[in-house]
Amino acid sequence: MTPCDLNAQDAELAELRASVRCFLTDDREQHGWVPAVDAWLAGWDEEFSQRLGAAGFTGVTIPQQYGGRGLSHLHRYVVTEELLAAGAPVAAHWIADRQVAPALITYGTEDQRARLLPRIAAGSFYSAIGMSEHGAGSDLAAVKTKATRTDGGWLLSGTKVWTSGAHHAHQVVVLARTEPADPKRRHAGFSQFLVSCDRPGVLIEPIILMSGAHHFNEVTFDQVFVADADVLGDIGNGWHQVTAELSFERSGPERILSTAPLLLAVVRALQNGGVSDDRTLSDVGDLLAHLISLRQLSFSVARTLNDGRDASNRAALVKDLGTQFEAESVRVAAQLLEGQCTPPDIDTMLRTAWLHKPMFTLRGGTNEVLRGLVARGMGLR
Ligand SMILES: Cc1cc2nc3c(=O)[nH]c(=O)nc-3n(C[C@H](O)[C@H](O)[C@H](O)COP(=O)(O)OP(=O)(O)OC[C@H]3O[C@@H](n4cnc5c(N)ncnc54)[C@H](O)[C@@H]3O)c2cc1C
Repeated sequence: MTPCDLNAQDAELAELRASVRCFLTDDREQHGWVPAVDAWLAGWDEEFSQRLGAAGFTGVTIPQQYGGRGLSHLHRYVVTEELLAAGAPVAAHWIADRQVAPALITYGTEDQRARLLPRIAAGSFYSAIGMSEHGAGSDLAAVKTKATRTDGGWLLSGTKVWTSGAHHAHQVVVLARTEPADPKRRHAGFSQFLVSCDRPGVLIEPIILMSGAHHFNEVTFDQVFVADADVLGDIGNGWHQVTAELSFERSGPERILSTAPLLLAVVRALQNGGVSDDRTLSDVGDLLAHLISLRQLSFSVARTLNDGRDASNRAALVKDLGTQFEAESVRVAAQLLEGQCTPPDIDTMLRTAWLHKPMFTLRGGTNEVLRGLVARGMGLR
């Protein structure tokens, strides 16, 4: 039993969970991928994503008419939990499946849905998110990338930064100004564009992590033509659309389970090594109790999103508390392993977790800023 087995009383969800586990065990045996921490950011494996798609575990919430399974966000939650707990290499399809598909379903045109959703459901279409800029991270309303009207579409100019996966992706979903900034209405005048990475004028340059890994990019758009057919949603409605998208981005199990493969491996190793002193049992118990309560909160947000209701404040809370837990879990895992002979696979996961730890609370909006959002949502500011 893992903490993910909670809520197993729903037979349909329990069956789905069992089928994902079965797929993962078989797929790992056949293809030999190695469980990794933070694999939803770093584990880019297009063949894995396509196998997952063929098995029906991507595009879970995409309507059947567009090649998906037409199931609920709760079903998707169960699938993503299992993928994260297994440390499977899911980065390639993650963003498209998590937030581009719901955005297309809500705001996309029929042509965009017919064109993109079947590929997302198949695990073969990859997307990056172009929101942040130099000087516009926490304060996203300071975005300067702009799109100006031209015949049949828009000309896009500006530079995005920290664009995860853009060097592999098919498209970047870009947030841009389509009206000049108005200090009195800072959130007005934004729009979203679906921009193919191979369009003339798109320049993708790597930002290399201190470990030498390459996930991030700086993406420059130099007078890039974007056809009207590739405007996502309504011109001028970009802020509202992005805020809705961020609820999906912030509340999922990836804000709690980025280090789960490490934690599960550590607990198993302690168990196998017969380590059962009071201190260890108490630390493991604390960790799991914390994880389980966070998971309940995150699952409740999935239910709210499933009902089509606004969950932005609770989504921000999940992200704040969940990513603090992720960061703390790295320290506790290291402490639990002190004095033990650490197997090489756990050592590799622990090293990666230390390196990625500072990113947990930053990505998806920093925790400090999210607390402001929660306070405003409670009428406190
Ligand atoms: C791993 C990772 C992946 C990412 N992927 C993407 C991506 O794919 N696409 C994308 O668009 N962006 C991406 N980002 C960018 C991310 O959204 C930004 O890093 C984040 O929004 C913070 O913006 P910033 O880095 O500009 O920091 P800043 O906004 O400059 O913040 C710096 C510090 O000041 C604090 N601060 C700022 N304002 C306030 C305030 N009002 N009150 C209190 N404290 C404040 C912040 O909390 C932070 O500690 C990614 C980031 C990471 C770490």
